[in-house]
Amino acid sequence: MGIQYGKVTGVDFKEARWIGREIVPSLVILHDTASRIEKGNAARYLQNNDAKVSVQFVIERDGHIEQQVPVNRKASHAGKSEYHGREWCNGFSIGIEMVNPGRMTRASEQSARTWFGQKFSILEYGIEEAETPQHGHGLWMPYTEEQITALVGLLQTLFSSIPSLEDITTHWYVSPGRKVDSNPLFPLEHIRSLILGRTDPAEAELGDAETPAADDFVIISTPGDTLNMRRWPSFNPNVIAQIADETRVPVIASVTVGGREWLKIIFGGIAGWIVKSYAAPVTFSRPGFRGAET
Ligand SMILES: [Zn+2]
Repeated sequence: MGIQYGKVTGVDFKEARWIGREIVPSLVILHDTASRIEKGNAARYLQNNDAKVSVQFVIERDGHIEQQVPVNRKASHAGKSEYHGREWCNGFSIGIEMVNPGRMTRASEQSARTWFGQKFSILEYGIEEAETPQHGHGLWMPYTEEQITALVGLLQTLFSSIPSLEDITTHWYVSPGRKVDSNPLFPLEHIRSLILGRTDPAEAELGDAETPAADDFVIISTPGDTLNMRRWPSFNPNVIAQIADETRVPVIASVTVGGREWLKIIFGGIAGWIVKSYAAPVTFSRPGFRGAET
């Protein structure tokens, strides 16, 4: 899979009725359809409705993916929302709807009831009772293996093709108290670590450890080679750009992880991390300075 003109290649595209302005997405927001689970049911509604809702992707229980809005156009999936101080997330996010009935209540010893009145066998669907501070109490249907596999493949394509993407989160996280999707059974941290490479201590250490850098600019120094810029200061699969030798880049922070020094830099309009030992400080009006073209 790749991306051409905002559309993921190899994925069915059915254009939604409600498509907004152009966006530069930095976030993926995961949703549940909270709907009937028959194939095509939720996708049809999301693609054409009077409620003015839309979303970039829908993933069915059998793993089939349908795209309805280009990844660089605004869809209406999150409503009132906030992510780390930025409000109205539709303007900078890609939405993915997973087909799932949403919160259920107990109908009997053996069955659970959805908000729209449908009953599901607890045994047959592996429905589990769970409660979290964000979701409250409920009975929840696990996602299928096919759904999770399809989601991981899609996220890998999105994150390797769209350099502005930085994080994966859920609707409940950006609209707390108002929304409970994805449900508590969703393996969010597993998927974030798979895609973002946050399995190592790097992210946890980052919060407090990040300090202003000593130099304003550095010059990449990897004679005859390029330097990997990474989403996080770690050697997990999280390379987001390759920078040519002798490129001059601005530095915004530094950190030491596991005894290794990293610099947070800006390259190609996005922030990322490089290993400090491959970067030389820029001295003022250095004779023969060749690093100005970035
Ligand atoms: Zn949602």
